[in-house]
Amino acid sequence: MSDMDHKDMESGNPEGNGAGGSDSGEKKKEYEDVCFICRRPESKAGKMFHLPNNICVCDDCMHKTMDAVSQYDYQGMLNNPQILNMLNGQFDSRNKKPEEDGEKKDEKKQGFPNISVINLSGLTGSGPIPNKQRIRKKNGAEKEKAKPLLDIHSIPAPHKIKARLDEYVIGQERAKKIISVAVYNHYKRVATDTMDEIEIEKSNILMIGPTGSGKTYLVKTLARLLDVPLAIADATSLTEAGYIGDDIESVVSKLLAAADNDVDKAEQGIIFIDEIDKIAKKKNTTSRDVSGESVQQGMLKLLEGAEVEVPVGANSKNAMVPLATVNTRNILFICGGAFPDLAEIIKQRLRRQTSIGFNAELRDKWDREKNILSQVTVEDIRNFGMIPEFIGRLPILCTLEGLNEEMLVRILKEPRNAILKQYQKLLELDEVKLEFTDDALEAIAKKALEKDTGARALRSIIEDFMLDIMYEIPKDDNIGRVTITRAYIEGTGGPLIDIRGNYSLEDMEDMHEIAEKPVS
Ligand code: ADP
Repeated sequence: MSDMDHKDMESGNPEGNGAGGSDSGEKKKEYEDVCFICRRPESKAGKMFHLPNNICVCDDCMHKTMDAVSQYDYQGMLNNPQILNMLNGQFDSRNKKPEEDGEKKDEKKQGFPNISVINLSGLTGSGPIPNKQRIRKKNGAEKEKAKPLLDIHSIPAPHKIKARLDEYVIGQERAKKIISVAVYNHYKRVATDTMDEIEIEKSNILMIGPTGSGKTYLVKTLARLLDVPLAIADATSLTEAGYIGDDIESVVSKLLAAADNDVDKAEQGIIFIDEIDKIAKKKNTTSRDVSGESVQQGMLKLLEGAEVEVPVGANSKNAMVPLATVNTRNILFICGGAFPDLAEIIKQRLRRQTSIGFNAELRDKWDREKNILSQVTVEDIRNFGMIPEFIGRLPILCTLEGLNEEMLVRILKEPRNAILKQYQKLLELDEVKLEFTDDALEAIAKKALEKDTGARALRSIIEDFMLDIMYEIPKDDNIGRVTITRAYIEGTGGPLIDIRGNYSLEDMEDMHEIAEKPVS
């Protein structure tokens, strides 16, 4: 078909092929068209024909359809004189009753009787392809010289990355340092693209730390400050392709969604896979390990860098979902997990080492060691059930400490978006000052430690006893300050209430309902 044909068909679609409506002009440029038949995007399939109802068909499919139509014999239809007459508009009406004849007259004028043109809009289900399934055009396709997404000079140095992390993440000094350097090196490699000359190894990271110690939080903060897209996936939901669960490539699909379907942006993003310890090799199993070892195997090529075809806007590939090709070579993978039995594996190894020779007396020293995870080696992780090829593709190993009482207190008040600061801000809007005594904070931290879920417990504990405060305070305009005390946290007393005007009314506590009501 000639260019004219393209133009003719395009002009038959006054709305264009964009996301719909007149404001689609910009989006039309930003997003690629996807062939309605083979689901390939414009960048792969070439120029599209635009049919009504925002349907696009690629050149190949259009040709195939035309060929099929022209070669089809219609089961000898064209040799049948009756049908030929009908097609010529000479529908034989001699045997029809007059009233029927009258009815058919209109049909004759409009075209063939009992034949209607298929309405393609019915096939699309929801009409135009939803925006989340549209693929953004690759950079170079439009602009001659695309601006690189990452400039070597704009990547913050490791100490700067760490300083920014410090504002949010408390403690975990070593982990923050390791990650800052790894991320800096990774993006340096991406920005200069030196992979082909001197191969700089990819710095994928394996993060080990107890639950609630800030693994996810660290990665989220990192992605925010680097301004790169981030996808957080859960390894427990992944299974080998073809089994119930998400395909391994769905993690790349998530990243593409986080990058607003911009393939260039996604290719420089971060993928965090949580609960990675749950895909350890199952011991003593005779059945196929579709959610364990097979997932590790399946992830190898992603971690290393490969071109993967991922469904856009969906978790699994099917005929109705467009596919995009994403290269994972520059995607930073961070895998995190609590590795619950790893501590015991490390202890056993250390005990074995120290039971020989003059170190023997240190044998049970490891039982008391609190931060045993920091002694982890690749061998321990392999004993845990991760396959060597998988560990090999996560060369940076960092461990996070379990949080202690002092760290929990700091987490309550120090980070930029600390929970206490959030409540203080909320009450400030009611012109009430919220304060916590030091021993109150310690009491909260103690309660959180008992729950053994790290810093995650802090919010639920605070929400519990702040409920009454947040409910009662707005009732009384006279309250100017509330001080949370240890007694209030422990349920043996109430908070201190100060009335506006700066005179302390500790004696008047009982005037206020909340002060009377200890929280259990
Ligand atoms: P996990 O290690 O299980 O992924 P998260 O990162 O989800 O834990 O932590 C849960 C919450 O606890 C975070 O949203 C964050 O607010 C808080 N948190 C955990 N560790 C820290 C830390 N070191 N500094 C500041 N906040 C933290």
